[in-house]
Amino acid sequence: FQALSLKPVFSASGIKGKRVTALSPQGNALTDFIQTAIAEKPDIDSPFSVLDLGVVMGLLEKWTTKLPTVRPFYAVKCNPNLALIGALAALGTSFDCASKAEIEAILSLGVSPDRIIYANPCISESHIEYAATVGVNVTTYDSKDEVEKIRKCHPTCELLLRIRPPQESGARTSLGLKYGALPEEVPELLSVAHAAGLKVTGVSFHIGSGGGDPQAYKGAISAAKSVFDIASLLGMPRMRVLDIGGGFTSGPEFDVAAMQINAAIQCSFGKEELVVIGEPGRYFAETAFTLATKVIGKRVRGELREYWIDDGIYGTLINIVFDYATVTCMPLACTSKPENPFCRDSKTYSSTVFGPTCDSLDTVLTNYKLPELQVNDWLVFPNMGAYTTSSCTNFNGFSSSVNSTFLAYSNPMTPEQTMF
Ligand code: PLP
Repeated sequence: FQALSLKPVFSASGIKGKRVTALSPQGNALTDFIQTAIAEKPDIDSPFSVLDLGVVMGLLEKWTTKLPTVRPFYAVKCNPNLALIGALAALGTSFDCASKAEIEAILSLGVSPDRIIYANPCISESHIEYAATVGVNVTTYDSKDEVEKIRKCHPTCELLLRIRPPQESGARTSLGLKYGALPEEVPELLSVAHAAGLKVTGVSFHIGSGGGDPQAYKGAISAAKSVFDIASLLGMPRMRVLDIGGGFTSGPEFDVAAMQINAAIQCSFGKEELVVIGEPGRYFAETAFTLATKVIGKRVRGELREYWIDDGIYGTLINIVFDYATVTCMPLACTSKPENPFCRDSKTYSSTVFGPTCDSLDTVLTNYKLPELQVNDWLVFPNMGAYTTSSCTNFNGFSSSVNSTFLAYSNPMTPEQTMF
């Protein structure tokens, strides 16, 4: 990481809080890290995020162990944080970009264009021309109009036909309504591209993002194999690329998904020569980021406690709306030392946590059990890296944690953290 020179870009700035509760000398390393950051930078801006690069490295190692034949192309849309993409680039991953701006961000890291797939089945002509200029030479398509645009603007671009997976995976965000060729559309889409002189080198799909059933990979891989066979029957050059998309989470479901994928590839493709790629976004980003926000207001209504924090659903916590996320939080004082009397003995109250904007929709948690908090206490939200800062707004003039990220490195072997 030293080589990346990330330090100047990502020092958090401006902590303004004056009151910090219960600093803990031992306990959970990441929240110790947050407490140290707050203690050492009394002018730190709230809200801020912490990116744990040790988590990212551990996840890449897990991916390589469980899916050794699948090359990961990180889906930048999930979280384009510069330190995250810089770390992934340095670790050798490739990238799924869905826009010109995402390609520019990845190329600016010094990543070569052959480590980028332009994985958007509908791209404007000027952006396809841009891809041609910078040497990004693989994209996806699922319509005849896209073939015509690519023929005109980037005729040497390789194509992957994006298909709709045969069964819904039950994921929180389904992508099948918008993208993916239906089985009956496949022969014509292949023929049209072939007739246009374009190389269709493979098939891509996405089973849906967030909590989908890993069984869905099996059906999708088998459907992809049928497309390979149709292309052969049509006399097209043999396909060689299988893009299994995203849909991964980093918990134990990943092991199940990996087993399903390895078995399905073996079953459908056997010893056929094949390049398999995946487009994980959530897998790398979700658990790597922790959000720290400050309580900026409080109201007591009988037994109910209502708090305002300085981030909300128009900011980093926008994943509640667009990613259907269920978020959790803890007072910073309790994360490192749950045995702290403040946490152990304190009565908890049914609490509402509001974001800072004037919209009452900006409500982060309702009926949530918390000990009694005071203005200027900190709340910590884990797992805040997926579809958070990538979609947040400046509504009402409030900032999110997007420009305020600390880097931490937790080594799973030694629970020691370094602040960059
Ligand atoms: N690839 C494509 C084409 C996508 O549209 C998405 C998410 O929308 C991803 C990859 C990332 O998927 P996930 O959020 O499941 O990691």
